[in-house]
Amino acid sequence: MGIPDMLPASDGALGPVGNATLQIHPSLKCNLSCAHCYSSSGPSAALSLDPALVCQAIEDASALGYTVVSVSGGEPLMYPGLEAVLRHAKSLGMRTTVTTNGFFTDHARFARLAGLVDVLAISLDGPPEVHNRVRGHPLAFERLHRGLDAVRAAGLAFGFIHTLTRTDWTHLPWVADYAAAQGASLLQVHPLEMSGRARSELADAGADENILARVYLMGIAIASKHGCRMQLQMDIVYREHVREHPGLFYACGNAAASAPEALGLLVLEADGSVVPLSHGFDQRYRIGNLHEQPLREAWPSFRDRRLPGLRRLCREVWDELGGDDGPLLSNWHEVVGARSHAHRIPAALTA
Ligand code: SF4
Repeated sequence: MGIPDMLPASDGALGPVGNATLQIHPSLKCNLSCAHCYSSSGPSAALSLDPALVCQAIEDASALGYTVVSVSGGEPLMYPGLEAVLRHAKSLGMRTTVTTNGFFTDHARFARLAGLVDVLAISLDGPPEVHNRVRGHPLAFERLHRGLDAVRAAGLAFGFIHTLTRTDWTHLPWVADYAAAQGASLLQVHPLEMSGRARSELADAGADENILARVYLMGIAIASKHGCRMQLQMDIVYREHVREHPGLFYACGNAAASAPEALGLLVLEADGSVVPLSHGFDQRYRIGNLHEQPLREAWPSFRDRRLPGLRRLCREVWDELGGDDGPLLSNWHEVVGARSHAHRIPAALTA
């Protein structure tokens, strides 16, 4: 491949918008509490979803046309219902991904995931000292490296997710070399988003346009070096690409569109909310809450009452990012997520 894929996929989705994905955060429980965590997960987090509720949401999403289930968190390997949820998704013919912090090295645990996970996505922040600092644990990298033996022994396809920051972006070539040497099939580069704990603890660590441009060039070199063995996906969008593909950014569409056509990514959060496009999206745009209504019943009401407001928001972001004054490169997910909290929508569309 000559250039990296640069489409608005989301953390854990591991694919372009065309892969209609239900991203699930079944619990915010995590053994770590990283400063850059967009979901504010940690050891003391208590929110967790009943696996039966999650399985029902997967069934409803499948009936709506969704084909991919992506489990994130919190740390999914600490969620007791993980295998049941994945098994249910596979029974419906869906593809599955799981995003883990790589701290678990148990061979038996990974062996049980064989056949249930299509891609295991492992978070990797840089060389050992950088990874340990970001993860806030002196053994984080050593555990990740050791755990790869168990992942390979189980025959699981795996990739890495790298969070791009202002301070650590220069380590990307090292990350790519390490990922390729370990046999990863995918490297996803996701710019730090100012949400969750990152907003309070890493307020100045976001990558600016200058850094995104440098990373883009790095991406071309990395794709040229490793692209035949490892897919490189960058969650960065180029202005011309935004301009030419309004549909990929939900800036147009018709009222009769199927759920995946109208909205390629649904996010099930640990409190039962289903929101569009990214974790932490403003609740005024929620599809529903599973504790109140199943997804299959919430969708038609969302489509008729809230989708027009969401479409207007996406159109405004598309105008901004694709316009002549728009940034050359941007993180569409962060922009649209941030705008969702500031955007004014008519009361009639939020009732
Ligand atoms: S970033 Fe991942 S590993 Fe770190 S606290 Fe959040 S969920 Fe846990």
